[in-house]
Amino acid sequence: MKLTVVGCSGSFPSAESACSSYLVEADGFRLLLDMGNGALGELQRHCGLYDLDAVILSHLHPDHCIDMCAYFVARYYRHDGGRAEAIPVYGPEDTERRLVQAYDDVPDEKSMQEVFDFRTLTPGTFELGPFTIRTARVCHPVEAFGFRIEHGDRALVYSGDTGPCEALTDLARGADLFLCEAAFTHGKEDIPELHLNGRQAGEHAQAAGAAALVLTHIPPWTDPNLNQRDAEAVFDGPVTLARSGAVYEV
Ligand SMILES: [Zn+2]
Ligand SMILES: [Zn+2]
Repeated sequence: MKLTVVGCSGSFPSAESACSSYLVEADGFRLLLDMGNGALGELQRHCGLYDLDAVILSHLHPDHCIDMCAYFVARYYRHDGGRAEAIPVYGPEDTERRLVQAYDDVPDEKSMQEVFDFRTLTPGTFELGPFTIRTARVCHPVEAFGFRIEHGDRALVYSGDTGPCEALTDLARGADLFLCEAAFTHGKEDIPELHLNGRQAGEHAQAAGAAALVLTHIPPWTDPNLNQRDAEAVFDGPVTLARSGAVYEV
């Protein structure tokens, strides 16, 4: 699998990065995980507008999904006059209604279905293109999912947004790459059931026996180096910081 970080800024975009969005490719299939603020622009550095085969949204906070409204425009009003085909869009309950509401004046209430084939996520496992995808509910103020994406004997795990939880450790068990949020700073913010800090991300990676940890979703006001140091203190494997445009072979 090839993982490309399209955007990794937490909560709102930074001068260097769009919000959460990750491109996962294997066997010519292109899967996008999340499409937060600014991600659609960055995505075009890595593939064509119509090259995505599926989108999965971890949850419906704007920093993970709001550019789907812009993507609707690109697919619905193609410059050649046709519509782009409907690609599968997996998300929590109510994803379609929320995106329609955010867009505000779609031509009619079914318009998004012409270009997005909405499918509701539930905890479990499903096949998508060449991938086997396991989902689990994680710990966040809204319904939110983490994902384990397997291809052959390789596994990539993405936390989405979450506070500390067992479900995340289970999902990340033995992962080759664990892409984990670290929005908070250890010893600074302590809001329950919202986000992880660097130390907690490291603890989850260590408990799961993951091979490598990539910290992501770090907001512009948080010092990423502190979070990396805190994760390294408790995790035996390598810890890197996600940055826009970074590519990982998993
Ligand atoms: Zn977020
Ligand atoms: Zn969130």
